[in-house]
Amino acid sequence: MDGRVIGNALLIYPHCSSDVTHVEHVFVSARQEDRLANEITVNAISGRVETRNKGEAPIGSTVGHGRRQRIALGGYCDLCGTRFALVITQHKGSALVEWAEREIPLWNDEDPLDTVEDSF
Ligand SMILES: [Zn+2]
Repeated sequence: MDGRVIGNALLIYPHCSSDVTHVEHVFVSARQEDRLANEITVNAISGRVETRNKGEAPIGSTVGHGRRQRIALGGYCDLCGTRFALVITQHKGSALVEWAEREIPLWNDEDPLDTVEDSF
């Protein structure tokens, strides 16, 4: 694994070097520094949005929670079938990037609504 994310303008899944990947969800762990998070999920296919989720946005093993917000793009590799998340964690003045492969939240697609939002 060389950690490369982009090759020829394609998202590369580094564990198998496949460029046949699918990105279908956006996870946001929204918070101010050191505060509690509002966990938000967007299904990029159905358009469904859920806020104040009980489940936590995917998190990488190297960076951890950091001190601020975290954004993850969730998807899967068509070659090996692995579900992954490309995780961007804001920590102090840097945006840290890493892959997560475990505990990617499952998404319920059985009830595809256009938009579901909870008020803040
Ligand atoms: Zn793969």
